[in-house]
Amino acid sequence: MANIPELFGSNVFSENTMRERLPKSVFKSLIATIQKGSELEPTVATVVANAMKDWAIEKGVTHFTHWFQPMTGITAEKHDSFISPQGAGAVIMEFSGKELIKGEPDASSFPSGGLRATFEARGYTAWDPTSPAFIKDGILCIPTVFLSYSGEVLDMKTPLLRSMEAVSQQAVRVLKLFGYGVSRVITTVGPEQEYFLVPKTLFDKRKDLVYTGRTLFGAPSPKGQELEDQYFGAIRPCVAAYMAELNEELWKLGILAKTQHNEVAPAQHELAPIFGNTNIATDHNQLTMEIMKKVAEKHGLVCLLHEKPFAGVNGSGKHNNWSISTADGVNLLEPGDKPYDNLRFLLFLAAVIAAVDEHQDLLRVSVASAANDHRLGANEAPPAVISMFLGDELAGVLEAISSGDAYVPVAGIKMSSGVQSVPDFKKDTTDRNRTSPFAFTGNKFEFRMLGSSNSIAEANIVLNTIVADVLARFADSLEGAADFESAAKALIKETVVKHARIIFNGNNYAPEWLEEAAARGLLNLRTAADAFPYFESAENIALFGRHGIFTEPEVLSRTEIMLEGYTKNIRIEVLTASEMAQKDIIPAAVLYSAKLAKAAKDKATLNIGAKTEIALVEEIGALIDSFADAKAALDATVPALDALEEPAAQAAFCRDTVLPALAALRAIGDKIEPLLARNALPYPTYGDLLFY
Ligand code: ADP
Ligand code: MG
Repeated sequence: MANIPELFGSNVFSENTMRERLPKSVFKSLIATIQKGSELEPTVATVVANAMKDWAIEKGVTHFTHWFQPMTGITAEKHDSFISPQGAGAVIMEFSGKELIKGEPDASSFPSGGLRATFEARGYTAWDPTSPAFIKDGILCIPTVFLSYSGEVLDMKTPLLRSMEAVSQQAVRVLKLFGYGVSRVITTVGPEQEYFLVPKTLFDKRKDLVYTGRTLFGAPSPKGQELEDQYFGAIRPCVAAYMAELNEELWKLGILAKTQHNEVAPAQHELAPIFGNTNIATDHNQLTMEIMKKVAEKHGLVCLLHEKPFAGVNGSGKHNNWSISTADGVNLLEPGDKPYDNLRFLLFLAAVIAAVDEHQDLLRVSVASAANDHRLGANEAPPAVISMFLGDELAGVLEAISSGDAYVPVAGIKMSSGVQSVPDFKKDTTDRNRTSPFAFTGNKFEFRMLGSSNSIAEANIVLNTIVADVLARFADSLEGAADFESAAKALIKETVVKHARIIFNGNNYAPEWLEEAAARGLLNLRTAADAFPYFESAENIALFGRHGIFTEPEVLSRTEIMLEGYTKNIRIEVLTASEMAQKDIIPAAVLYSAKLAKAAKDKATLNIGAKTEIALVEEIGALIDSFADAKAALDATVPALDALEEPAAQAAFCRDTVLPALAALRAIGDKIEPLLARNALPYPTYGDLLFY
């Protein structure tokens, strides 16, 4: 067993490493940039680059990369070596401040939406000193932002950093009114990551998993998740070995991997880190997803991060636990012992409530994808309707505030198990609600609609921006108030009354809720194709503009990228399903029925009845015919899709025509599969994949 404290962060150019290796003045200046956001002094970069290079070389590193997060949702890197020719065929290892600060990857092959027309191929990556550099696979990775030649944002990190600035600025204004002089506020995130593990040998035999990450065919196995024996169950040895190596790899990168357990579905698991600064947590979640996949291969497994790899069993999500705190660690969403009297907490809480209610559309967009559509609203994940859960205690507090009645605190209740040797403990003042899309869980909000493969950047860009916007309004109205305390109380009351509709403490999975939500006027954007166009509404362009997050062209281009991504993913699914139908399912069914027919014929020559064989041949034959028809219908949607020009029209066509045709084909395929003999199956079944 490795020495974990020694191992932890060993591949990170961390604050401690910097303190050891940088001259004091340089270290101080860099820390000021990291902690206070002050501008980086140019001379600092040169010294830092050199120290980074020496540190990396000592660890056997020969290359560096600007590591960035284009709009693909994953990360990108291009490696350059440190070598620099010195004449006479010699080289030295060099890394300049300029190389640390700026890179120039060709931007033309990354998604850029409508921006492609207006910007040139040249793109820039620029060092983000607030997220530490690290070594991955023997490469020094420098977290960077990614911009076009004309300065347009082409990535996830730039707007995330801007949104952190925005929320900090506005929160600092509000805190000042409380006499709390801080210069910087950050948001914090702890993302819980769900995933599946399946054997690599079986994965390789399924073109749907290979090309799309999810099964496009597959009849349910006799056992699913109905016994609920997988959740928190004992972890099988091969998975335990995987988790152990995964943890070590993550710890080396300074990622605080903390909790691991089996999830509800068979072969499904979860990993949760300890929360941290949203920018770093986002980088870490990207790294976590990448390393989950890499380590799995070493164990003969494949890690599936798709939101819905298997029909009929739960899909995978990601819970984005989010809070706001001062840079020195005071959590502004901590209610304390007396939330009713905690004006600062109530004001920040009210800001989040107003933000979520006013911007349901943006929150929905931030988690929208073709893949996540299979989960949201499918009784395993929150519905596509955004609402907030606050719990009994806070709901009571807010009710008292709205009605003006005195608040009667809930007394702390002792829990006793009735067993003398088990110590008593204090019960939480509120139960958990696992069905809410946006739940207050003690001192943070848990946004539960994210898909497992989502970059958490998008959800947090939106969260930070919408909360910044409400805080700005709060600050505007309170800064001029004669009596701050009574003005703040009035504002909290007004806000809570106005946005009461967004609070729902009941069961979000119940069908009645959808009716009630509609009556309350809450948005129900059922699919990603419904949601994306909201991103570019006039209000949202104004909102993002107000806080310097996105310009109008950037909003428009992002909308286009999202719509195109949706269509492209579905198009790949169609081509894959069609190929599997033609090359796997039809041949398997035809060969098997030919065998049966031959057996029936042989029996007939001996005057023996062949009732079972004939019935099966007929049943399979009829299904093959309708399957072939369904395939033809599905195939015909592709040229029709391609003939449409507008990304929004294409996405709508996918939603309304392509996906139903895909589902129709699958329904028949899944009827054929159970009729075939085990050795006649075209690919590994759900049973093979999930119960290994
Ligand atoms: P669960 O939802 O499974 O019950 P927990 O409530 O224990 O899990 O915590 C889930 C995640 O929330 C963890 O990653 C934890 O670090 C994170 N978390 C705790 N406090 C905060 C906070 N103030 N800001 C952001 N995330 C937090
Ligand atoms: Mg959770």
